[in-house]
Amino acid sequence: MASLSDRVLTGVDALADEAVAFTSDMIRVPTVNPPGELYDDCARLIGRKLQACGFELEYYPAEGCPEHTPAHPRINVVGTRRGRSAHPLVHLNGHFDVVPAGAGWTVDPWSGEVRDGRIYGRGSCDMKAGIAAAVFAAEAIRRAGIELNGTVEISGTVDEESGGFAGVAWLAEHKRLSKDRTDFVIIPEPLYVDRICIGHRGVYWFEVETKGRIAHGSMPFHGVNAIDHMSIVFERIRRELQPRLAGRTTEVPVIPPGARHATLNINGVNGGQPVDGIQTPCVADACRAVFDRRFLIEEGFDATKAEILELLDGIARDVPDFKYDIRDLMVVHPTRTPDGSPVVSALERALHRVLGRSGLVASPGTYDQKHVARIAGVPHCVAYGPGILDLAHQPDEYCGVDDLIAATKVIALAVLELTGTE
Ligand SMILES: [Zn+2]
Repeated sequence: MASLSDRVLTGVDALADEAVAFTSDMIRVPTVNPPGELYDDCARLIGRKLQACGFELEYYPAEGCPEHTPAHPRINVVGTRRGRSAHPLVHLNGHFDVVPAGAGWTVDPWSGEVRDGRIYGRGSCDMKAGIAAAVFAAEAIRRAGIELNGTVEISGTVDEESGGFAGVAWLAEHKRLSKDRTDFVIIPEPLYVDRICIGHRGVYWFEVETKGRIAHGSMPFHGVNAIDHMSIVFERIRRELQPRLAGRTTEVPVIPPGARHATLNINGVNGGQPVDGIQTPCVADACRAVFDRRFLIEEGFDATKAEILELLDGIARDVPDFKYDIRDLMVVHPTRTPDGSPVVSALERALHRVLGRSGLVASPGTYDQKHVARIAGVPHCVAYGPGILDLAHQPDEYCGVDDLIAATKVIALAVLELTGTE
């Protein structure tokens, strides 16, 4: 008699067309964020599929979040299929919001077109194919007539692309995802079908304002030019800080290789006293710039911020009349799945079975793992799903059908193992 895992793998192959069709169905709902279009429609589309696959449904509007408005409601959906017991519980989470299509497409970004073994569309790889992989992994187990020893949950959540506060963070804050309830979390984000993603770097997003003194533009010597002072900040960052950051390398396998180093990007700058878009003929008394510092788990947030303050204070010591303010806009701490986590070993075994290879990576940018680890307190969380990271947010985004099917198999085998189903 065929083993459970053989039956599940055969089952996934039999479900392939349905998994592709469901991915296309989701792509055809343009859940564009910002501002958060059609979330209710997409949550209900996922909900109907989960219900058809034997899940109990709950819908969670993100009550209390400022971004949850009548025009753009934030609706999350969670399905639960309990097996013989409540635990072990494996939660599969995917965000269904997508970034705007942007320019440069050669196919309709909202058609969900399948061509040459690829499913095209905005959100195909990031990450509606991942949601389909989760749903059909669970469905292949059910259609093989296997009752899980534990429980599988699948959630479709909002706003990952804008921080996830009304999505996974909301579910974690309201204990729907929690360490008492949830044993393992797999987020099928696209970080290559043969790679398991064990976390991400930290983010320190901050604004610096240099403060000058206004004067007539014809007599700049009577004032202090805040833009001049900001240019000193940029110069020191370029000359002193950037080379130091480039010299720091994390032990965590962040991809692509450039992101294994600490980085800093200047996101934007504005200064002067523009009135209705027209610049006054004055010495700039203010200049603001926004910075995006990605820090390594080895650096930590406190040292990262201290280094910025030291650079600014160093300028203040050297440059007469240099005054600044700094404002933290967002801080995300790095996360890393613990060594020896069962969720990693289960996926590794499944990957070897399905694709004959596996590897660990970490993400250059953050994703919802931070909320699972930090708010819900569930350490055993990874990202694993179909799709190529580099295609996310690009024109002509696609997910390979073979990727979708392989990831569905891998997730199904991991769910069997993690729930102790034999
Ligand atoms: Zn994503």
